[in-house]
Amino acid sequence: VHWADRLAENLIKEVPDLSTYTFASGITPSGAVHVGNLRDIVTNWFVARALKDRGKNVRLVHSWDDYDRFRKIPKDVPAHYAEFLGKPISKVPDPKDEFPSYAARFERAFERSLADLGIDFEFRYQSMLYESGAYSPGIVKAVLSRTQIFDIISSYRSQESSLDERSAYLPIEIYCRVCDKDTTSIQRVDFDNLTVSYRCKSCGAEETIDLRKATNVKLPWKIDWPMRWAYEHVNFEPGGKDHATKGGSFWVASDIARQVYGITPPIFQPYEFVGLKGLVGKMSSSSGDLLTPAQTLQVYQPEVLLWIFARVHPTKAFNLVVDKQLFQVYDEFDRAFENSKKDVSSADARSLALSTICGRTVVPVSFRQLASFTNIVKGNRRALLDVFERLGSHYQESDICERAEKAEAWLRDFAPEEKIDLLVAPNQTFYASLSQIERDWITALSAYLSSGPHTLSEISTDLYAIPQLENVTSPDTQKRFFRIIYRLLFDRDQGPRLGTFFSALTPDRYLHLLSFRG
Ligand SMILES: [Zn+2]
Repeated sequence: VHWADRLAENLIKEVPDLSTYTFASGITPSGAVHVGNLRDIVTNWFVARALKDRGKNVRLVHSWDDYDRFRKIPKDVPAHYAEFLGKPISKVPDPKDEFPSYAARFERAFERSLADLGIDFEFRYQSMLYESGAYSPGIVKAVLSRTQIFDIISSYRSQESSLDERSAYLPIEIYCRVCDKDTTSIQRVDFDNLTVSYRCKSCGAEETIDLRKATNVKLPWKIDWPMRWAYEHVNFEPGGKDHATKGGSFWVASDIARQVYGITPPIFQPYEFVGLKGLVGKMSSSSGDLLTPAQTLQVYQPEVLLWIFARVHPTKAFNLVVDKQLFQVYDEFDRAFENSKKDVSSADARSLALSTICGRTVVPVSFRQLASFTNIVKGNRRALLDVFERLGSHYQESDICERAEKAEAWLRDFAPEEKIDLLVAPNQTFYASLSQIERDWITALSAYLSSGPHTLSEISTDLYAIPQLENVTSPDTQKRFFRIIYRLLFDRDQGPRLGTFFSALTPDRYLHLLSFRG
């Protein structure tokens, strides 16, 4: 049974007979959102799909925590951004002035990627909700239950708290009405009239707020979380595994949910973090080992990216690869794709079904071969189709376009060292350095290739028989032979699989590089 189906069934067992199940996720847009954050999203997406398959209605709510304070200056913004520290991220301007705010820049980018992945959520902007007063009843409830909340939080702390701390505790944070900063100190609280007076340490402003109509008050995170569960009626929420450890924020939030807001906390699904493997060169230095979903989708077909998440249980860590191992990822996807036609009940088939995107079809064109040949044919789609035709696969241009673009982006931005191109003129200097026996191998190869056409399997076998030393061929001589061919064709020590290479291209493209006089 696929993990998403198991989690869906567990949810139905825990909360039977609901007309609509609500899934929540949340991210603080304090910088570019890492592709690993997709785990928060897709865990919900897959379980929700499994729930829909069981005839249930679902609601997917994603919160942008853009009412959180701007707490440190990211390295890619001007130094004067220090002046915005302490404001909500939604009130920090976009450094390039292209978006309404610093937060919006990252929110829009991530939302666009979710659309590319076919994921459809209701987005909630916490700054808008807090500033509209929608959360005021939840805030009032927290203020009136301050002692209870204090005791819950204290019960998870090892440190003793004093009675003074207890009586002074007020679970709210205030953004100054005038300068928007949270550098406010509370002067008076009137619990009968539910008003709070503050003074701003930055600009000196003073204000008395009616908590029932509060539009600049925020709850601290451990209270904000259960308040939102109550507000949205959340039934299921994934989160980093650290939240779930004994005494972690999910425990505190759950107690507050039950005792203050009178609700049952949602089912919490912890997940392991997603690492990144193979980010080098240009991409690594420009992004500081951070990859956004948009950058990932430059090289991953959306279905392939979804599938990588779908096939691994949320509690298992994995690395997203962007180096040469990407070939393997595509190969595995394509194999699963073929296998799923034969065995629709396998876990592989289920992972694929959960990764489909409405209105799209996938054609499993070898990414490895696209990457090997696209540069040689200078990106010409017609020539690429011919390559596949010669290798025995018949495709339409529309079948190969998307993956061809991803292969090109990969070679350009992620793995330029994998980009191969045929030499323009024969590598005379290298040929001159070869022994007579090695030259004889090349003469034999050239004669063999011009005597074609040969099938892929013929070439693959015959190639290995060419490099003989005293009538014997060994893995060592074969390795030496192949290296010589790579040097003559590409002036490199490595390259694509030669059998495939020779059969995929017409001999006129490479024979002149293997023909020497004397
Ligand atoms: Zn102020």
